[in-house]
Amino acid sequence: MNATARPADSLAGPLNRAIGVRDLAAFVHRRGDIHHRYEKATLAEEGIARQKEWQKQRGGGYRREFFVSGEWHGVEVAGRVDGWDSAAGVVEEIKTTRVDARALHEHQGHLNLAQLKLYAGMLALAGEAPKLLRLVYLHPDEPGELVLEEPADADELTAFVERTCAAYADWLGVVAARVARRDASLKALDFPYGEFRSHQHWLARRIYRAWRDEEHLLVDAPTGSGKTMAAAFPAFKALGEGEVDRLVVLTSRTTGQGAFERAFGDLADAGARVSTVTVTAKARICFNPELPCDPDLCQFARGYFDRMPAARDDLLARGAVDRAAVEEVARAHRVCPFELSVDAAAWSDAIVGDCNYVFDPVVRLARLQTPTFPRAAMLVDEAHRLGERVRDMLGATLSRGVVKDALKECSRSLEHAGAAAALPGLRSVDRALASLAREVFGAARGRVDAEREIEPPATLLRAIDRLLHDGSRGVELPHGGAAQDAWFGLTRLRLASEWAASAREAGDDTDFAWIARWQGRNLEVELVCAAPGAHIRTRLDDFHGSVRMSGSFRPQATYQQVQGFGEDAAAVKVPGRADGLGLLVVPDVSTYYRDRERTLPRLARLIRDVTQAHPGGYLVAFPSFSYAEQAHAAFAACLSQVDGMGPATRCQQRTMDLEERAAFIDWLGKVESADDARARVAFVVMGGVFAESVDYPPEALDGVIVVGPGLAPKSLGRDLVARAATARGFDGHAVGYRQEAMTRVVQAAGRVVRGPGDQGLVLLVDPRFTEASFTEFYPGHWQPQRIRAHDAGTHARSFWA
Ligand code: SF4
Repeated sequence: MNATARPADSLAGPLNRAIGVRDLAAFVHRRGDIHHRYEKATLAEEGIARQKEWQKQRGGGYRREFFVSGEWHGVEVAGRVDGWDSAAGVVEEIKTTRVDARALHEHQGHLNLAQLKLYAGMLALAGEAPKLLRLVYLHPDEPGELVLEEPADADELTAFVERTCAAYADWLGVVAARVARRDASLKALDFPYGEFRSHQHWLARRIYRAWRDEEHLLVDAPTGSGKTMAAAFPAFKALGEGEVDRLVVLTSRTTGQGAFERAFGDLADAGARVSTVTVTAKARICFNPELPCDPDLCQFARGYFDRMPAARDDLLARGAVDRAAVEEVARAHRVCPFELSVDAAAWSDAIVGDCNYVFDPVVRLARLQTPTFPRAAMLVDEAHRLGERVRDMLGATLSRGVVKDALKECSRSLEHAGAAAALPGLRSVDRALASLAREVFGAARGRVDAEREIEPPATLLRAIDRLLHDGSRGVELPHGGAAQDAWFGLTRLRLASEWAASAREAGDDTDFAWIARWQGRNLEVELVCAAPGAHIRTRLDDFHGSVRMSGSFRPQATYQQVQGFGEDAAAVKVPGRADGLGLLVVPDVSTYYRDRERTLPRLARLIRDVTQAHPGGYLVAFPSFSYAEQAHAAFAACLSQVDGMGPATRCQQRTMDLEERAAFIDWLGKVESADDARARVAFVVMGGVFAESVDYPPEALDGVIVVGPGLAPKSLGRDLVARAATARGFDGHAVGYRQEAMTRVVQAAGRVVRGPGDQGLVLLVDPRFTEASFTEFYPGHWQPQRIRAHDAGTHARSFWA
């Protein structure tokens, strides 16, 4: 039914003027609080059967589920009416929910009513005569309903549609004017650093073309090639030329986010009038981490939607906005910083955030893909980690120990309504886990650690279903305790099992498998996503082209396959610089677990000889904390045998907060005076924050010693990943084991020689670094030289001579 009643007014700019009724109602009419209990309380898929049942009971002449659309003030509105009884003039909006319907209505009834009024008004504008508005709340599994009605007046309803669209059109006008100013500034924008580095101009042009032509491009560019600005600059140019509508930058670490924030800041200084917003994880940016998002407890949740529009506009007016600016504006307006960042990001020109906001089905932020800017360009930095990250996002693990802790907590807190309500369901989950352990491990249980591939655990999943549904009726678990942890784990496992089932049904290429693990007298059930490529590809296809960048993309076919692309998918390689890099491979120090104790003294001497040959800053990167700690102790013992002042050393700790990390990095970069030059030797863990992502200043680091390839121990989960890759015609062991390990090696080595004129030494210590199955992961510009451990000091001296 088309309800066009007025010719469209024109809106400036290229914005998409289409919007759904639900989003329009929320944008214009949402007021009040954030409340965690009600934010995702209405159900879509689950409620369909119950909704159909309700609709079947309506009389003749009742129409259900039909589309209406129309255009007012240049805004194209469309949506689906749940029910329309033309004889009685009744318009229905049906909500299905498991929470208490009255409480839900109290929280967001105004929003549901606004949605209903828009539908009724659109029907009136199409010539119908609505007389009664009916809001219906149903429970998906239980009989009974809450029905709220109010009389309707056709003139008032059509005026409501007009007013709502006019308000949204005003906002689009503001956005369009901002976009016009942005585009004018971007057309005149020059490269902010004067000269392009070698290859940087060519790379920037290639990246621009990828977005313009809606390609999925993989960029293999070594550290120090200037790839951050080689991507940020063409992204802004593509925005200015109208090739794309916005940019979404995804990273895997906050350090990567910082690089783009700086690049956007530099572009803003050069004249770009672009609004960029960094979305920081809720757990990290929350002002009240010890509280739930409840307006009775958190002042930043109370009245959030009343104050958010002003805060959002304030934030967007600031241009390039990092986390600190989000916090400052959120405090000034007394609104939740996380929700503010997401609400502002929905309207900004560029967003910087973690990969999970696009790829994780649980925390995915649909608001980041507003239809107003349909052609969003995607940029994934550190994309070598994408396969591993998405595998983790799609999989889930449940430990019986976690369920037992939750049971203990709930048994102790029976006065808490939520704890008492959850207890029977938790007991039945625990029984299902106990029975699964008996069934899978039988008599061997309790004696040996073991893991087995199993069929989907139907009894366990049914028990989890019952618990989650019973517990969603408005009762709450104690905040921040063991029961809530278990709840998150159970929810994640249930959702992951649904994705696995729907992937199987859809026949897509995502490969899931179930594992039961008996370890330390505890059962773990894990759903492993063995091949996340199809999911990655689907998400990337939602965007107007994507660029995946990294300095560790060799062999390229392996990464393309893991990320859902064929070998012939678009890719470019930026040659690295070999001139300043000395690469020594030391195969005569074995770092296999069984050899570590024996080779520890030789390793310590090697570190001593290299760091004393040229005092400066050194990272020594290990596959594990315990190996790093052992080597640190052995190095200290080795130094005590030397006269004079030895190097200063530090060892990465298992838990370090942001301040401690910053102090560690500062210490490494603290260059002593020439008269008092002592080496600074940092013992760190590969894949950890210090060996990956940190852009050390050139003077901070002189060398990196990588101790072993750090292969993950053999496990059934990795074997399943390898099996899935083999089934697709790839080297299974490479995908399941070597790829991640060697990515970490290349990333650690990439901390030195980051720009033209830099010099640095890399030592790779282990015999496997000479084997073809490992050297195939080396960047193309590496020129390794094989040496013996006791000659390392001599080679280091001659490199620096
Ligand atoms: S500040 Fe924290 S507790 Fe308050 S609404 Fe935001 S995320 Fe929730």
